Amino acid sequence: MKNIIVGAGISGAVLANLLAGKGENVLVIDRRTTLAGNSYDYKDKETNITVHKYGPHIFHTNNKEVWDYLSKFTKWHFFFLKPNAIFEGNVCNIPFNLNTLYQVFSNSMAQRIEEKLISNYGYGVKVPILTLKENDDNDLKFLSDYVYEHMFKNYTMKQWGLKPEEIDPAVTARVPVYISHDNRYFQDKYQGIPLNGYTKMVENLLKHPNIKIKLGVDYKDLKVNFDRVFYSGAIDEYFDYKYGELPYRSLRFDTQILNKEYYQKTVVTNYPNNYDFTRITEHKYFLDEKSDKTIISVEYPEEFKLGENERYYPITDAKTKELYEKYKQEAEKLEGLYFIGRLGEYKYYNMDLAVEKIFELYSKLFVKNN
Ligand code: FAD
Ligand code: UDP
Repeated sequence: MKNIIVGAGISGAVLANLLAGKGENVLVIDRRTTLAGNSYDYKDKETNITVHKYGPHIFHTNNKEVWDYLSKFTKWHFFFLKPNAIFEGNVCNIPFNLNTLYQVFSNSMAQRIEEKLISNYGYGVKVPILTLKENDDNDLKFLSDYVYEHMFKNYTMKQWGLKPEEIDPAVTARVPVYISHDNRYFQDKYQGIPLNGYTKMVENLLKHPNIKIKLGVDYKDLKVNFDRVFYSGAIDEYFDYKYGELPYRSLRFDTQILNKEYYQKTVVTNYPNNYDFTRITEHKYFLDEKSDKTIISVEYPEEFKLGENERYYPITDAKTKELYEKYKQEAEKLEGLYFIGRLGEYKYYNMDLAVEKIFELYSKLFVKNN
């Protein structure tokens, strides 16, 4: 079989590895000149600091199969993301948790709210802000208004150009109010950063005699036919936007080398209310790299404009899901064509879910049939 995988991101690389392991020959192409898609990282020559070019990437999963599989291609630097946010000039823990309560309110008030949160929802429970807003208790109403106003409203306006209640509720639910003193952003069982970077991990996934790689090549410029095409690019682009464009949100990163050892106290600081940017990432924290300089990336959300910037986030709502379904149905009519990954499936996938979805496809195509 002649197989092509369009896109050398984590989805494409995992699939290529599985196919190659089965004795299939695979060509992997990417129009970028780099591997690893949006998880691409590189070592800056001047400082030796590893930079996450397309935004901060922390691998986290509860799926042991996914973790064990990737662990064959990388060692891990065990890492827990504990970001800060600046509310009214104070540096606080985020997601908003029981520690944050004591950072922004008086002790007696924080204690009262803590007790109410625990008795209403239970300790260790994650409550999406839009759910918390439905609570009628006066203290909890005060809390939800505070968190909504200070943490979600303006950040979401910057990130999406929309209010929290105007976007898919699953998006704000990614960062719930967490009734716990645990400051970690994620509670997954397995968390880490590839010790030698994501790019190296992807390179290792693709290191197989059955895999050929061509970078700097766009699928639309290839004049060769394949028996199977696995496409991790945007599904609307593949079909020449015949039903219209699927909307995306984009980002601009202002990455700077600074002549100081550290810029901020932790890897990511969110700025929900002030400035036009949403967050600042200080890259040396990912792998605990030492240098007398530091590198930061200031992250500005912006509209996605075809040909001008990159697709980062699918904007999912009922209308765009319907549009995506039209493309999906079109794709299902074509034999040997499979759309994969965040762009191909138009889903807000984290890396672990992207890998899980490739396992599912592989098993559907090859394992169950045998
Ligand atoms: P991609 O990485 O987008 O790869 C698709 C590839 O296809 C690209 O390299 C592209 O150039 C190529 N391509 C597209 N069209 C064509 C074409 N026509 N011809 C040739 N090549 C083509 N996930 C986490 O788990 N943890 C995190 O902390 C995290 N942080 C994130 C932060 C940001 C700012 C963003 C945007 C995402 C984050 N993610 C995170 C999600 C993560 O980036 C994705 O899950 C992952 O990149 C999906 O991989 P993919 O291979 O599906 O897609
Ligand atoms: N969010 C917010 N304030 C924050 C952090 C997140 O309002 O300080 C909301 C915002 O709508 C954002 C969503 O929660 O798009 C998901 O945040 P997450 O950190 O998961 O976004 P990602 O890392 O994928 O950009």
